[in-house]
Amino acid sequence: MKIFYFLIIILWGGGLATVYHHGQNNIEKQLISTLKDNEREVGQMLDVAIAYNESIKEQLIFNFDLHDISNPHPLISSFKNFPELNAFGLQGNETIAGHPLTANLTGIGSMQDVDAEMWSEINALLGLNLSAPIAAKSHPFIWSYYTSQKGFILLSPSVPIEQFHFTEYNYSKPFWLIATPEENPNKETRISDLYDDAAGAGLMISVSTPVYYHDVFKGAVSLDVGLDYLNKVLHSDLSALDNDISLISDKGQVIANKAFKDLENVGFKLDEQVVNYKLAQYSGGYYILSNLIKGKFYVAYQLSEDQWQNLVVENIYGRLVIVSMFVIILWLLVKLFDMLCKTKKLAELDGLSQLYNRMSLERLSNEAIYMAIKRDEPISIIMIDIDFFKQLNDEHGHYAGDQGIINVASVIKRSVRKIDIVGRYGGEEFVITVPNTNLETASYLAERIRTEIERSAFNGTTKVTVSIGVAECQAFALQSFQELCKKADLALYQAKENGRNKCVVYSYDMEICNQRYS
Ligand code: GH3
Ligand code: MG
Ligand code: MG
Repeated sequence: MKIFYFLIIILWGGGLATVYHHGQNNIEKQLISTLKDNEREVGQMLDVAIAYNESIKEQLIFNFDLHDISNPHPLISSFKNFPELNAFGLQGNETIAGHPLTANLTGIGSMQDVDAEMWSEINALLGLNLSAPIAAKSHPFIWSYYTSQKGFILLSPSVPIEQFHFTEYNYSKPFWLIATPEENPNKETRISDLYDDAAGAGLMISVSTPVYYHDVFKGAVSLDVGLDYLNKVLHSDLSALDNDISLISDKGQVIANKAFKDLENVGFKLDEQVVNYKLAQYSGGYYILSNLIKGKFYVAYQLSEDQWQNLVVENIYGRLVIVSMFVIILWLLVKLFDMLCKTKKLAELDGLSQLYNRMSLERLSNEAIYMAIKRDEPISIIMIDIDFFKQLNDEHGHYAGDQGIINVASVIKRSVRKIDIVGRYGGEEFVITVPNTNLETASYLAERIRTEIERSAFNGTTKVTVSIGVAECQAFALQSFQELCKKADLALYQAKENGRNKCVVYSYDMEICNQRYS
């Protein structure tokens, strides 16, 4: 039975381990799928930004062809010089057809220095629809703008010139540098590193598209994306990991958030790291690297050992309970079966001698006799009765009597084979059913038991003797346990008659003797 309990424990352990492993895989899959969703969202945003820049660029090139300065835009009449700012342009509060402008144009120096070519470029810029709501006003884009090689900018949404105007300094900013022919000879749309906004909107990245007109570099159309937006995307659906998400540049520098301050400790270098969406382990817990913008920004999602365990346990809680309940039910069933077996065993045994009781003795013996007849094998029974047992009770008390019974039972038990059936037949009478044993061998066994009992003392020095009758089934064509007992009892009677402490084998002449005495 112990083996069953052992197996249940193994089953439980195995079940828990499987559920836990499954939970780990689930969490890893969930995390990775969220990361990929976030990447996709940022990717889509960038696609929109690029398409938006391209459309502005195309419209601008179209306007360059149309808007020469002989046909000036009405807003040009509103241009002013702002000598205290060393700037010219619009104030920023003008309207067009009754609508406020969605962009403002400012340049370096004074209007008097603007040449015809510049006016023509300004005219083309003003030809863009400046009263329509633009992408830059809506999340996630902060600014949309065109920066000219000639020292002016059209910035949307509109900012009053006192707050922002174009200066030389802007040409040192990443949005410009990534667009210039020197840095971007392939004339492609590029994404900048993270940098601080000149107009005070905080950290951002720029998507810049160079504008060429008749193969001459004119300027750049740019769109800025705020760090807030990137952070928001990074954290969506990952609230459990708050503060453990880091935006990392392609140079391995942590751009945003607290985790992974010390990348060396984590043991990875971004340029060597393949972003394979696998949960990796390091001394402080786990991390997954994700590629937010290909080759530009990586994201490290970091989990401490505790966070990881909590996530997994939350995920598998239900299944843990089910597995445990199943194991408990199994345990109870085994326990019940165990108890039933024990009860059955108890019902078969005699309480004092721990031998089979009369009922089981008869049932098992009859089964053995049936099998012996079927196989044509001999089977014997040995009937044992303690001599002068009443006297022992009378002289030494019933307790001593009981000890005598226990002692005789244990001597019998250790003298027989496993297949022999030993039972307490009555008060101080015992029967052994000995399968596959003829009369001669059974009488040897009986004699050995008799001498053994004669020798063995209990309760100190108390000894008893026994009288034994032996009978065999085949030899006398007997069919049942009752019949065999009768014959063995006759032999036992003879043993008593012969002076007790004797072993007698049944023979036919005892029947005559019996008839005479009965
Ligand atoms: P004999 O040599 O002829 O067999 O004499 P005996 O005294 O052994 O035979 P008898 O049948 O007269 O006595 C048997 C006694 O066994 C009677 C009864 O009190 C006693 N006895 C029966 N069962 C138990 C028991 O469980 N415990 C004890 N202590 N005595 C028992
Ligand atoms: Mg008796
Ligand atoms: Mg007796």
